[in-house]
Amino acid sequence: MADIIDGKAVSQRLKDELKEEVAGLKAQGKEAVLAVIQVGNDPASSVYVGNKKKACAYIGIGSESYELPEETTQEELLALIDRLNEDDKITGILCQLPVPGHIDEDTIIRRISPLKDVDGFHPMSVGALCIGEKGFVSCTPAGIMKLLEYSDIDVEGKECVVVGRSNIVGKPMALLLLRANGTVTVCHSRTKNLQEVCRRADILVVAVGKPKMITEEYVKDGAVVIDVGIHRMDNGKLCGDVDYDRVAPKCSAITPVPGGVGPMTIAMLMYNCVNAIR
Ligand code: NDP
Repeated sequence: MADIIDGKAVSQRLKDELKEEVAGLKAQGKEAVLAVIQVGNDPASSVYVGNKKKACAYIGIGSESYELPEETTQEELLALIDRLNEDDKITGILCQLPVPGHIDEDTIIRRISPLKDVDGFHPMSVGALCIGEKGFVSCTPAGIMKLLEYSDIDVEGKECVVVGRSNIVGKPMALLLLRANGTVTVCHSRTKNLQEVCRRADILVVAVGKPKMITEEYVKDGAVVIDVGIHRMDNGKLCGDVDYDRVAPKCSAITPVPGGVGPMTIAMLMYNCVNAIR
């Protein structure tokens, strides 16, 4: 039976390490302050924003909330970002996505200073990752690398298959695995023979956004399976992109949903906030 990779425990360990580091940095007069912007009051976004503020409080990172009404114009939002970019007290800026339809997400992402881009979405952050320079890395894939590291799963020389090529998960995930010397294949909706390609993987990362799509036929015996997906089923329970019950008996290690990748995303956001002042 597979080892269950416990994202909750790893994220707690990471947060505790960060808490200690933040106390040390404070003693040197360095303080991290995260500005969290939310436009509108989408309930899911409110939950995410609330969790991020809670994590900041736990670690000792300051947080400033900007809760803007749904009808906020793009110009107003950009003016706020400009102000926060120039404010030396603010060390990280996060605009909770999605923003309302009348605001262009890419314009917002590009306006946040790359020096304060703790989400790691700015093209300069992505470019830095691509050419192996220092910069903020998108939290979910960065969290997966931490999970692998804390679970003593070595990437070097391994066949790594990533299902999904989104800008925030699939692509940065592939780049991180490559940086760790994995042999990386990226799959997407036009990939032919997906099962066959996935079955090559020593490490299979699934970010496809389809509940329980990955069944045992996609998985090689002994593979490590990382499930990024998160979906609420009709019975109210959460599930991932991987059919956990069918896949777990076949692999050497697997992340559950919930309690796998999810908790790492916020922990890595905190890591990025601390990185901003390191
Ligand atoms: P996107 O919808 O942006 O991307 C999905 C990717 O999967 C696309 O590249 C798409 O291909 C590919 N895809 C879709 N259908 C198939 C298929 N049948 N075969 C092969 N590839 C396919 O999703 P995200 O990357 O944003 O998120 C993926 C999942 O992870 C979601 O369930 C999301 O909720 C979850 N998530 C969880 C996070 C966490 O903290 N745990 C954080 C972020 C996301 P193409 O490019 O060709 O369209």
